[in-house]
Formats: sequence, C-alpha cells, structure tokens
Amino acid sequence: MIYISRKEHFNAAHKLYNPKWSEEKNQQIFGECSNANWHGHNFELIVTVRGKPSEETGFIIDLKELSKLIQEEIIEQLDHKNLNLDVEFMKGKMATIEVLVQEIWNILAPAINQLSSNGELFKLTLTETKSQFVEYCGNDRGYDTKSIGSGQDLDL
Ligand SMILES: [Zn+2]
Repeated sequence: MIYISRKEHFNAAHKLYNPKWSEEKNQQIFGECSNANWHGHNFELIVTVRGKPSEETGFIIDLKELSKLIQEEIIEQLDHKNLNLDVEFMKGKMATIEVLVQEIWNILAPAINQLSSNGELFKLTLTETKSQFVEYCGNDRGYDTKSIGSGQDLDL
C-alpha cells in the first residue's frame, strides 16, 4: 500500500466560545482564544490518500485533480473566512481543529472515492500553529467520538 499526500493552506478567523457558558467560564476554559473580537491562524491541511498505483498511470490518484477537489470543496469555503460565522458546515459547532477536521473528512472521503478507483482517504492532518495540530483517520479507525462524548453540536 502506498500513501500519497497533498498539502494545502488557508487563513481563517475563529474564537473558541461556548454560548451556554458564562463569560467567566469561557475565559477560564478557552483563555485568550475566547476573545470576543476573534483571532486568526494560517492553517495547513495535509490530505493523505492510500491505495495501489494504477497500471495505466502509475498514480493512486491524480494529484492535480485532488488539489482541485480540495480547493473547491474545502479551501474556497474556509480561506479568509470566519469559521464561526461564515462556514456552512461549521454552523452551530465549536470552531476547534478537532471538530473542523471531522467536518473536512465527511466532505472529502466520499469525494475522493468518486475521484479515484485506486485510492481512498486515509488521514487528514490539520495544523493550527507551529506547535498544535490534529490527525484524523475517520471514525472506523480507532477514533470513536461517541466514547469520548460528542457535545459538539450546540444550539446556537
Ligand atoms: Zn485560535
């Protein structure tokens, strides 16, 4: 099995804030990330596809087409946007990289299946800062969100 990755970037603003909590509790849990007037990051998204190379092309997936797909489905929705306010698939959810990476997976996994008969989405790596990033391999590969409590869908 071969693993091939494509890296893309986007800039976006957010704040970490639970509307069910008091200002004090938000400040206590999220610190300066709960600042009312937002803050931004230069995010990096690495999309890793695994599979066997096609005999005709030698490709698992055409990286030009993968890049176009990521741009259209993900980057155009997120780049220079406010994750809390502007992004349809983040509406009513906490704007953390843990939640965001799962939403990106839900969009990309079926789209990549359509794009390539040889490859499937294996892992997403979403980097928020030089020292903070998440990796996600889908719920069926050991990350069971139910067992750690969802609590991500807020009634906004
Ligand atoms: Zn932040």
